[in-house]
Amino acid sequence: MSLPLEMTAVVFDRPGEFAVRQVPTPRPTPGHVLVRVAASMVCATDRKILSGMFAGTTFPHVPGHEFSGEIVALGPQVDGPPIGTRVGVEVHVGCGSCARCREGLYNLCLNYGKLETGHAHIGFTTAGGLAQYASVPAAAIHVLPENVTLEDGAWTDNLGVALWALERGRLVAGERVAVVGSGAIGLCAAQLARALGAAEVVLVGRGERLARSKAFADRVVDDATPLFGSMDLVVEFAGTADAARDAIRLARRGGRVVLGGATGQGVELSGLDLSTIVRGHLDVLGSVANPKRVSGRALALLADGKIDVRSLTTHHFPLTRFADAWATFTERRDGAIRVMLRPQEK
Ligand SMILES: [Zn+2]
Ligand SMILES: [Zn+2]
Repeated sequence: MSLPLEMTAVVFDRPGEFAVRQVPTPRPTPGHVLVRVAASMVCATDRKILSGMFAGTTFPHVPGHEFSGEIVALGPQVDGPPIGTRVGVEVHVGCGSCARCREGLYNLCLNYGKLETGHAHIGFTTAGGLAQYASVPAAAIHVLPENVTLEDGAWTDNLGVALWALERGRLVAGERVAVVGSGAIGLCAAQLARALGAAEVVLVGRGERLARSKAFADRVVDDATPLFGSMDLVVEFAGTADAARDAIRLARRGGRVVLGGATGQGVELSGLDLSTIVRGHLDVLGSVANPKRVSGRALALLADGKIDVRSLTTHHFPLTRFADAWATFTERRDGAIRVMLRPQEK
Protein backbone atom coordinates (compact mmCIF):
# COMPACT_ATOMS: atom_id res chain seq x y z
CA MET A 1 0.00 0.00 0.00
CA SER A 2 1.39 3.39 -0.88
CA LEU A 3 1.19 5.91 1.91
CA PRO A 4 0.23 9.53 1.32
CA LEU A 5 3.09 11.99 1.73
CA GLU A 6 0.96 14.17 3.95
CA MET A 7 -1.74 13.54 6.51
CA THR A 8 -4.21 15.51 8.59
CA ALA A 9 -3.18 15.94 12.22
CA VAL A 10 -3.96 17.99 15.29
CA VAL A 11 -0.90 20.06 16.13
CA PHE A 12 -0.33 21.80 19.46
CA ASP A 13 1.89 24.59 18.12
CA ARG A 14 2.74 26.25 21.38
CA PRO A 15 1.14 26.32 24.84
CA GLY A 16 -2.54 27.25 24.45
CA GLU A 17 -2.60 27.11 20.63
CA PHE A 18 -3.67 24.29 18.37
CA ALA A 19 -4.56 23.76 14.72
CA VAL A 20 -5.67 20.96 12.43
CA ARG A 21 -3.42 20.84 9.40
CA GLN A 22 -1.40 18.81 6.93
CA VAL A 23 1.91 17.44 8.19
CA PRO A 24 4.29 14.84 6.71
CA THR A 25 3.05 11.27 7.18
CA PRO A 26 5.45 9.55 9.60
CA ARG A 27 7.50 6.59 8.37
CA PRO A 28 8.01 3.77 10.88
CA THR A 29 11.50 3.78 12.38
CA PRO A 30 13.29 0.62 13.67
CA GLY A 31 11.11 -1.26 16.13
CA HIS A 32 8.02 0.76 15.20
CA VAL A 33 4.81 0.00 13.37
CA LEU A 34 2.75 2.52 11.46
CA VAL A 35 -0.88 2.61 12.56
CA ARG A 36 -3.61 4.10 10.40
CA VAL A 37 -5.69 5.63 13.17
CA ALA A 38 -9.39 4.73 13.13
CA ALA A 39 -10.56 6.16 16.45
CA SER A 40 -8.88 8.55 18.86
CA MET A 41 -10.12 10.25 22.01
CA VAL A 42 -9.21 13.32 24.02
CA CYS A 43 -8.83 13.41 27.79
CA ALA A 44 -8.08 15.86 30.57
CA THR A 45 -4.38 15.10 30.28
CA ASP A 46 -4.38 16.57 26.77
CA ARG A 47 -5.50 19.79 28.37
CA LYS A 48 -2.46 19.76 30.63
CA ILE A 49 -0.22 19.05 27.66
CA LEU A 50 -1.76 21.93 25.69
CA SER A 51 -1.35 24.32 28.58
CA GLY A 52 2.37 23.55 28.65
CA MET A 53 2.19 21.98 32.13
CA PHE A 54 3.74 18.75 30.97
CA ALA A 55 7.52 19.06 31.10
CA GLY A 56 8.28 16.16 28.77
CA THR A 57 6.42 17.61 25.78
CA THR A 58 8.17 19.70 23.16
CA PHE A 59 6.15 21.93 20.84
CA PRO A 60 4.98 21.69 18.11
CA HIS A 61 3.39 18.44 19.24
CA VAL A 62 0.90 15.97 17.77
CA PRO A 63 -1.13 14.78 20.79
CA GLY A 64 -3.40 11.75 21.24
CA HIS A 65 -2.86 8.78 23.54
CA GLU A 66 -6.19 6.93 23.52
CA PHE A 67 -6.46 5.37 20.08
CA SER A 68 -6.73 2.35 17.87
CA GLY A 69 -6.23 1.52 14.24
CA GLU A 70 -4.81 -0.85 11.70
CA ILE A 71 -1.16 -1.65 11.07
CA VAL A 72 -0.28 -0.44 7.58
CA ALA A 73 3.53 -0.63 7.61
CA LEU A 74 6.29 -2.23 9.66
CA GLY A 75 9.57 -0.51 10.39
CA PRO A 76 12.93 -2.27 10.24
CA GLN A 77 13.58 -4.96 12.87
CA VAL A 78 9.95 -5.47 13.70
CA ASP A 79 8.77 -8.98 14.33
CA GLY A 80 5.28 -7.79 15.06
CA PRO A 81 1.84 -8.76 13.84
CA PRO A 82 1.23 -8.55 10.09
CA ILE A 83 -0.01 -5.59 8.12
CA GLY A 84 -3.77 -5.32 8.42
CA THR A 85 -3.87 -6.31 12.11
CA ARG A 86 -6.27 -4.22 14.20
CA VAL A 87 -4.60 -2.88 17.32
CA GLY A 88 -5.18 -0.78 20.40
CA VAL A 89 -2.32 1.33 21.70
CA GLU A 90 -0.88 1.41 25.20
CA VAL A 91 0.81 4.66 26.08
CA HIS A 92 3.87 3.78 28.18
CA VAL A 93 6.78 2.06 26.49
CA GLY A 94 9.83 1.46 28.66
CA CYS A 95 13.47 1.19 27.68
CA GLY A 96 13.25 -2.50 28.57
CA SER A 97 16.54 -2.67 30.44
CA CYS A 98 16.42 -0.40 33.51
CA ALA A 99 15.64 -1.79 36.97
CA ARG A 100 11.95 -0.81 36.84
CA CYS A 101 11.39 -2.11 33.31
CA ARG A 102 12.94 -5.43 34.33
CA GLU A 103 10.34 -5.62 37.11
CA GLY A 104 7.61 -5.12 34.52
CA LEU A 105 6.95 -1.62 35.80
CA TYR A 106 7.72 0.13 32.52
CA ASN A 107 5.31 2.89 33.57
CA LEU A 108 8.09 3.90 35.97
CA CYS A 109 10.96 3.53 33.47
CA LEU A 110 14.10 5.20 34.79
CA ASN A 111 14.88 6.44 31.28
CA TYR A 112 11.71 8.46 30.97
CA GLY A 113 11.87 10.89 28.06
CA LYS A 114 15.16 9.53 26.71
CA LEU A 115 13.99 8.52 23.27
CA GLU A 116 17.42 7.11 22.37
CA THR A 117 16.95 4.37 25.00
CA GLY A 118 13.68 3.25 23.41
CA HIS A 119 11.48 4.93 25.99
CA ALA A 120 8.30 6.51 24.64
CA HIS A 121 5.29 8.08 26.28
CA ILE A 122 3.06 8.14 23.24
CA GLY A 123 1.21 11.41 22.74
CA PHE A 124 3.31 12.98 25.51
CA THR A 125 7.01 12.74 24.62
CA THR A 126 6.37 11.36 21.13
CA ALA A 127 3.77 12.08 18.44
CA GLY A 128 0.38 10.55 19.17
CA GLY A 129 -2.82 9.44 17.55
CA LEU A 130 -4.83 12.60 16.94
CA ALA A 131 -3.69 12.18 13.36
CA GLN A 132 -4.41 9.95 10.40
CA TYR A 133 -1.25 7.93 11.03
CA ALA A 134 0.96 7.30 14.05
CA SER A 135 4.31 5.54 14.24
CA VAL A 136 4.48 3.70 17.57
CA PRO A 137 6.86 1.15 19.09
CA ALA A 138 5.68 -2.41 18.47
CA ALA A 139 5.82 -2.87 22.27
CA ALA A 140 2.92 -0.42 22.59
CA ILE A 141 0.37 -2.39 20.63
CA HIS A 142 -2.27 -4.87 21.71
CA VAL A 143 -3.93 -6.96 19.03
CA LEU A 144 -7.67 -6.38 19.34
CA PRO A 145 -9.76 -9.49 19.93
CA GLU A 146 -11.92 -10.30 16.91
CA ASN A 147 -15.18 -9.10 18.44
CA VAL A 148 -13.77 -5.81 19.80
CA THR A 149 -14.50 -2.96 17.40
CA LEU A 150 -11.86 -0.38 16.53
CA GLU A 151 -13.90 2.24 18.38
CA ASP A 152 -14.01 0.20 21.56
CA GLY A 153 -10.33 -0.61 21.03
CA ALA A 154 -9.49 3.07 21.52
CA TRP A 155 -10.15 2.35 25.22
CA THR A 156 -7.17 -0.03 25.47
CA ASP A 157 -5.04 2.27 27.60
CA ASN A 158 -7.87 3.59 29.78
CA LEU A 159 -9.14 0.12 30.62
CA GLY A 160 -5.64 -0.92 31.63
CA VAL A 161 -5.32 2.08 33.94
CA ALA A 162 -8.61 1.21 35.65
CA LEU A 163 -7.85 -2.50 35.95
CA TRP A 164 -4.36 -1.87 37.30
CA ALA A 165 -5.76 0.20 40.18
CA LEU A 166 -8.09 -2.66 41.11
CA GLU A 167 -5.23 -5.14 40.92
CA ARG A 168 -3.14 -2.84 43.12
CA GLY A 169 -6.02 -2.94 45.60
CA ARG A 170 -6.15 -6.78 45.55
CA LEU A 171 -9.89 -6.92 44.96
CA VAL A 172 -11.38 -10.18 46.14
CA ALA A 173 -14.74 -11.51 44.95
CA GLY A 174 -17.64 -10.61 47.23
CA GLU A 175 -16.18 -7.35 48.51
CA ARG A 176 -17.78 -3.93 48.68
CA VAL A 177 -15.99 -1.49 46.43
CA ALA A 178 -16.31 2.27 46.16
CA VAL A 179 -15.08 4.19 43.13
CA VAL A 180 -14.57 7.91 43.70
CA GLY A 181 -14.82 9.87 40.45
CA SER A 182 -17.46 9.54 37.73
CA GLY A 183 -15.22 10.36 34.76
CA ALA A 184 -14.26 7.87 32.08
CA ILE A 185 -11.66 5.95 34.08
CA GLY A 186 -13.84 5.82 37.20
CA LEU A 187 -16.70 4.39 35.15
CA CYS A 188 -14.35 1.78 33.67
CA ALA A 189 -13.12 0.88 37.17
CA ALA A 190 -16.69 0.48 38.45
CA GLN A 191 -17.55 -1.91 35.64
CA LEU A 192 -14.31 -3.84 36.00
CA ALA A 193 -14.88 -4.19 39.75
CA ARG A 194 -18.20 -5.83 38.97
CA ALA A 195 -16.57 -8.04 36.37
CA LEU A 196 -14.03 -9.16 38.97
CA GLY A 197 -16.79 -10.22 41.34
CA ALA A 198 -17.37 -7.30 43.69
CA ALA A 199 -20.59 -7.82 45.65
CA GLU A 200 -21.49 -4.14 45.55
CA VAL A 201 -20.01 -1.21 43.66
CA VAL A 202 -20.76 2.31 44.83
CA LEU A 203 -19.83 5.20 42.57
CA VAL A 204 -19.15 8.56 44.20
CA GLY A 205 -19.33 11.49 41.83
CA ARG A 206 -20.76 14.84 40.98
CA GLY A 207 -22.71 16.74 38.40
CA GLU A 208 -24.54 15.84 35.24
CA ARG A 209 -22.24 12.94 34.54
CA LEU A 210 -23.37 11.14 37.68
CA ALA A 211 -26.84 10.64 36.22
CA ARG A 212 -25.26 8.90 33.23
CA SER A 213 -23.34 6.63 35.58
CA LYS A 214 -26.26 4.72 37.08
CA ALA A 215 -25.93 1.75 34.74
CA PHE A 216 -22.32 1.15 35.72
CA ALA A 217 -22.61 0.72 39.48
CA ASP A 218 -25.04 -0.71 42.00
CA ARG A 219 -25.40 2.68 43.58
CA VAL A 220 -24.37 6.23 42.73
CA VAL A 221 -24.02 8.89 45.43
CA ASP A 222 -22.88 12.49 45.45
CA ASP A 223 -22.20 12.54 49.17
CA ALA A 224 -19.85 9.87 50.50
CA THR A 225 -20.25 10.81 54.18
CA PRO A 226 -22.85 8.17 55.16
CA LEU A 227 -20.56 5.45 53.81
CA PHE A 228 -17.39 6.46 55.65
CA GLY A 229 -15.61 3.52 57.25
CA SER A 230 -17.59 0.89 55.38
CA MET A 231 -15.87 -0.13 52.13
CA ASP A 232 -13.42 -3.01 51.67
CA LEU A 233 -11.69 -1.38 48.73
CA VAL A 234 -11.80 2.22 47.54
CA VAL A 235 -10.40 3.32 44.21
CA GLU A 236 -10.07 7.03 43.47
CA PHE A 237 -10.03 8.50 39.96
CA ALA A 238 -11.02 12.11 40.51
CA GLY A 239 -7.61 13.69 40.98
CA THR A 240 -8.43 16.17 43.73
CA ALA A 241 -7.49 16.41 47.40
CA ASP A 242 -11.18 16.30 48.37
CA ALA A 243 -11.61 13.04 46.51
CA ALA A 244 -8.47 11.53 48.06
CA ARG A 245 -9.70 12.46 51.55
CA ASP A 246 -13.12 10.94 50.86
CA ALA A 247 -11.48 7.81 49.48
CA ILE A 248 -9.42 7.28 52.62
CA ARG A 249 -12.40 7.95 54.88
CA LEU A 250 -14.59 5.53 52.94
CA ALA A 251 -12.42 2.51 53.73
CA ARG A 252 -13.31 0.21 56.60
CA ARG A 253 -10.64 -0.60 59.16
CA GLY A 254 -8.15 -2.96 57.55
CA GLY A 255 -9.33 -1.97 54.09
CA ARG A 256 -7.43 -0.78 51.03
CA VAL A 257 -7.40 2.56 49.26
CA VAL A 258 -5.90 3.13 45.82
CA LEU A 259 -5.36 6.72 44.71
CA GLY A 260 -5.21 6.81 40.92
CA GLY A 261 -6.51 10.26 39.95
CA ALA A 262 -3.98 12.46 38.19
CA THR A 263 -3.45 15.45 40.43
CA GLY A 264 -0.27 16.78 38.86
CA GLN A 265 2.33 18.23 41.18
CA GLY A 266 1.58 20.60 44.02
CA VAL A 267 -1.75 19.26 45.30
CA GLU A 268 -1.49 18.61 49.03
CA LEU A 269 -3.58 16.35 51.20
CA SER A 270 -4.56 18.09 54.42
CA GLY A 271 -7.45 17.97 56.86
CA LEU A 272 -7.27 14.23 57.33
CA ASP A 273 -7.00 12.67 60.78
CA LEU A 274 -3.91 10.47 60.51
CA SER A 275 -5.45 7.95 62.86
CA THR A 276 -7.89 7.14 60.06
CA ILE A 277 -4.93 5.53 58.29
CA VAL A 278 -2.85 4.29 61.22
CA ARG A 279 -5.53 3.06 63.61
CA GLY A 280 -7.62 2.18 60.58
CA HIS A 281 -4.83 -0.20 59.58
CA LEU A 282 -5.30 0.91 55.99
CA ASP A 283 -3.28 0.11 52.93
CA VAL A 284 -3.10 3.42 51.06
CA LEU A 285 -1.55 2.95 47.65
CA GLY A 286 -0.74 5.13 44.69
CA SER A 287 -1.34 3.88 41.19
CA VAL A 288 -0.17 5.32 37.92
CA ALA A 289 -0.81 4.07 34.40
CA ASN A 290 -0.93 0.45 33.32
CA PRO A 291 2.16 -1.76 33.46
CA LYS A 292 2.56 -5.56 33.19
CA ARG A 293 0.41 -5.98 30.08
CA VAL A 294 -2.69 -5.24 32.14
CA SER A 295 -4.32 -3.57 29.13
CA GLY A 296 -4.26 -6.91 27.31
CA ARG A 297 -6.14 -8.53 30.18
CA ALA A 298 -8.64 -5.68 30.15
CA LEU A 299 -9.23 -6.21 26.42
CA ALA A 300 -10.04 -9.86 27.14
CA LEU A 301 -12.75 -8.74 29.55
CA LEU A 302 -14.01 -6.25 26.99
CA ALA A 303 -14.17 -9.00 24.37
CA ASP A 304 -16.16 -11.09 26.83
CA GLY A 305 -18.83 -8.38 27.06
CA LYS A 306 -18.07 -7.62 30.71
CA ILE A 307 -17.61 -3.90 30.12
CA ASP A 308 -19.53 -1.34 28.10
CA VAL A 309 -17.32 1.44 26.81
CA ARG A 310 -19.61 2.38 23.94
CA SER A 311 -21.99 4.17 26.28
CA LEU A 312 -19.05 6.14 27.65
CA THR A 313 -18.13 7.35 24.17
CA THR A 314 -20.71 10.10 24.21
CA HIS A 315 -19.70 12.18 21.18
CA HIS A 316 -18.17 11.58 17.73
CA PHE A 317 -16.48 13.97 15.31
CA PRO A 318 -14.29 13.75 12.21
CA LEU A 319 -10.75 14.85 13.06
CA THR A 320 -11.16 17.97 10.93
CA ARG A 321 -13.71 19.20 13.48
CA PHE A 322 -11.26 18.87 16.36
CA ALA A 323 -12.04 22.37 17.65
CA ASP A 324 -15.71 21.41 18.18
CA ALA A 325 -14.71 18.12 19.77
CA TRP A 326 -12.29 19.89 22.10
CA ALA A 327 -14.91 22.41 23.21
CA THR A 328 -17.47 19.64 23.75
CA PHE A 329 -15.03 17.76 25.96
CA THR A 330 -13.43 20.58 27.90
CA GLU A 331 -16.78 22.29 28.58
CA ARG A 332 -18.42 18.93 29.26
CA ARG A 333 -21.24 19.83 26.89
CA ASP A 334 -24.25 17.48 27.05
CA GLY A 335 -22.64 15.46 29.84
CA ALA A 336 -19.67 14.52 27.65
CA ILE A 337 -17.61 11.68 29.06
CA ARG A 338 -15.36 10.75 26.14
CA VAL A 339 -15.28 12.47 22.77
CA MET A 340 -14.09 10.38 19.84
CA LEU A 341 -12.37 11.65 16.72
CA ARG A 342 -12.34 9.71 13.48
CA PRO A 343 -9.27 10.68 11.49
CA GLN A 344 -10.20 8.80 8.31
CA GLU A 345 -13.59 10.51 7.98
CA LYS A 346 -14.05 13.65 5.92
ZN1 LIG B 1 -5.91 9.96 28.71
ZN1 LIG C 1 13.25 1.40 31.59
